[in-house]
Parts: sequence; C-alpha cells; structure tokens
Amino acid sequence: MGHGAVCAFLTEGRAPEGARAGPGERRQVWAGRLESWRGLPYADLAFEGLSRLATDIPAEDLRRLTRAAYTPQIFNSEDIVPLRPLNDGLSLLGLSEGPTLAFKDMAMQFLGQVFEYVLTQRGTTLNIVGATSGDTGSAAEYALRGKHGVAVFMLSPHGRMSAFQRAQMYSLQDENIHNIAVRGVFDEAQDIVKALAGDLAFKAKYRLGAVNSINWARIAAQVVYYFHGWLRATDKPGQQVSFTVPSGNFGNILSGHIARGMGLPVRRLVLATNENNVLEEFFRTGIYRPRPAEQTYATSSPSMDISRASNFERFVFDLVGRDADRVKALWADMARDGFFDLSALKPQFEAQYGFVSGASSHEDRLATIRSLYDETGVLVDPHTADGVKVAREHVEPGVPMLVLETALPAKFSETIEAALGRPATPPGNLANLESLPQRVEVMDCDAAAVRRYIEAHAKV
Ligand SMILES: *Cc1c(COP(=O)(O)O)cnc(C)c1O
Repeated sequence: MGHGAVCAFLTEGRAPEGARAGPGERRQVWAGRLESWRGLPYADLAFEGLSRLATDIPAEDLRRLTRAAYTPQIFNSEDIVPLRPLNDGLSLLGLSEGPTLAFKDMAMQFLGQVFEYVLTQRGTTLNIVGATSGDTGSAAEYALRGKHGVAVFMLSPHGRMSAFQRAQMYSLQDENIHNIAVRGVFDEAQDIVKALAGDLAFKAKYRLGAVNSINWARIAAQVVYYFHGWLRATDKPGQQVSFTVPSGNFGNILSGHIARGMGLPVRRLVLATNENNVLEEFFRTGIYRPRPAEQTYATSSPSMDISRASNFERFVFDLVGRDADRVKALWADMARDGFFDLSALKPQFEAQYGFVSGASSHEDRLATIRSLYDETGVLVDPHTADGVKVAREHVEPGVPMLVLETALPAKFSETIEAALGRPATPPGNLANLESLPQRVEVMDCDAAAVRRYIEAHAKV
C-alpha cells in the first residue's frame, strides 16, 4: 500500500480502483514470530499485526495509536478480547466489550485514532456523513466523539431502532456528533447520503467522508483478533483452530480469510448466516445470487439482514487467482443474469480456503440461546446464537472452535426475553443509559434539509 493510501481510504471510505482487493502483498507471519507474540497485551499485538497491513503509518506513531485505541477502560475488559470456554469444544471470542457492545468497536476505535492522527498531520478537517440502522453508526460516533478536526452527521430511520440503540446514539452530547433521525426507512436515509456524496462540489467544499464496511483500515484492524484468538486458544506452534463468524456483509470473516492467508494456522472458517442466506448458499453451491430488498427478511438477528455483501468481491478476487478481469466479468454476469456461477471452483472453497457455511432460523436462535444458557450459564445475543448453532454443526474433535461474539445480549434484549422469559441486563456502567437526556434532530426525508443542516454545522 503506497504512502497516502490510508488517507484515501479515510476520505473515500473505500480502496481506490485497482486496490479493491487490499494490498497485493500481505506479509507472511512465520511460526516463530507468532510464538514470540504469546502474552503480548492486545494493543501491542495490534501494533505487530497492523504494521504488516497498514504500512504507511510510521512505527512509533502506529504503536501510540494502537495503545490509545485498545485500553481496558474503553473495552471494559483487562484482556480487551476475552476468550470464554463454552461446551463441546466451543469457545466464545468476546469482541463486544467496547462502548457500543458490538464487534464494530474493534475496528472503529482504531479508525477513530487514525482519523485524528491523519487530519492533525495534514492540518485539515473532515465531515463524516453516513446512514445507519444500528451498529456501524453508533460505533463510528463513539470512536469519533470529541476527536479534533472531525464531525459526524449520522442519519438514522426515525422510530425504527431499538430503545437501547437510540439511547446509545442520541445520548451523546459531544459538539462534533450530530444525530439526524429522518422520517423514513434505512434505505431512504442511505439514498440521502448517496445524493449528498454524489454532489461533487458540495462534497469537496465540505470535505465529506464516509465510514463504511469496505474500508481497508477496518478490515486490517479486525485481522488482529483472529491472531489474538489463536494465541489464547493454543499453546504450541502450528496447532489448528477453527472460527465461526456470524456474517452479513462479509466484513468480519474477510479479516479471518486474510489472517489465514498470512499464515495463521486456521483449519476452518465457518460462515454463519440467518434466514438471509445468500452467502451460505454460495459456499454450499458455488452460485452467488444476491436478493432484492423486498426479498430481504427482517429477522431477530437484524445486523445480518443483508443480501448484497459489499466485501465479498475481495474474497472472489482471491478465489479466481487474483484476476481482476475475471472478477469484472463475474459482476457483469450478475448484473445481466442476477447471479454468477463459480460451482466449478467449489472443491477449493474448503480444501484451499477452509470455508464452510451454515444457516440459522428464528427458532434455532431461540433454542440455541436457551440451551447454551441452561448448559453453561452463558447468555449470547441472537447474532452470536446463529454462530453457535452453525459452529455445533462443524466442530471437529481436537480442533478448538472459536465462535466470534458479535454483540452483547443487552443490545437485543427483546429476543432474549422471547427465549428466556426475562430481559438481558446491560453492563453496570450502562444501567441507566435509557434515562439519559437525548440529542437528536428529527427531519423529513429531504436531502435539501439535511444539506442545509450540514452547511450550518460542518467543521470548517
Ligand atoms: C455487523 C454485524 C454483523 C455482521 O458482520 P459482517 O462483517 O457484516 O459480516 C453480525 N453481528 C452483529 C451484531 C453486527 O453488528
């Protein structure tokens, strides 16, 4: 990755054309080096991992940034990412100890540090504009609150998030955080963001930026916890572990794929979906057939209700031998026919890349939450429950199976109540979150109104 590439990712929110698949040369990590990382604090492991992936930040600066991002105070855990044993060979990799109780914090807290660092260095400012239906927007706000040189304008669908999610976002009182609730659904909020970003003069004048899931710095920051999980679950070189990842946009599991490609001894990468099983179907059949919005179900693991996975292209690029023309042709097939067919390569999915998949339903989710709680006393959120359900189908004797915990149960308490007959309690420091004063601008679904609001409040 050339110098300045991180800056391009920050302002564009995506890799420039041609670099869509991420840096071509990911530095391999040798077994001896991996062993020397045992016992490192998470922040220092993040420095080691990221210095191999985000090569345009000088080492001493990068170390400072990772130490500022990954503290026990921010993550409410000494270990930052705790590993908890469940039963039957499964363990839970706790990615949700951050301020918004979901795994998006893992990358976003680092990204928040990088934003401030780059903007200070360049003596410039940036106005982040985004739309959220929950987890990404709140993680971005918590990562950027109070940071110099950056403001956040986050659109959310009015009245369509859970009470806890609303309280999380709208209770932020920082002057650089702006919550805009639009009277409409998520897609309409997203359309406003697209319209504003599409107005190039406006975009340039107010230096608009994005934080979405196709962002190399985010994917790179997530690679670290796969290394951390392996180091905590093993005690000798070369020992294999498997990971199960609750998936929607293919962002989280893409980082697992990259970690494996760097030489981490990963046996299987198990992709778990809910009823929106486009990705599960691909790994089962080799056919990728995204669905239109009206065929995307609203489920009780809502952060996985996605039918067009924005990070999937990067994996397909590897699958077809890093042939960009082939990828382009496949996406052209999809635009024409509604699908593409890689079933000829299906034998490689597991043999070469370790990928297998499974899907889960609402009933599975409830049954898994209940049985896991009865058997182990551990309560998991609905997304993680989808992971546990599918992990149980793919666990092998002698190979630790780490299920990635993508949210804490308190964030999705309605479903916990449906499963157990009682709600999930939030961590102690968030017990009175819903009674805090809230700060939100409610608006009609009108791009011109949002634009006027940004003009009046943007960082200049
Ligand atoms: C974002 C999210 C997911 C899906 O992750 P992808 O990277 O989009 O595959 C799963 N669970 C929760 C709780 C999330 O917030």
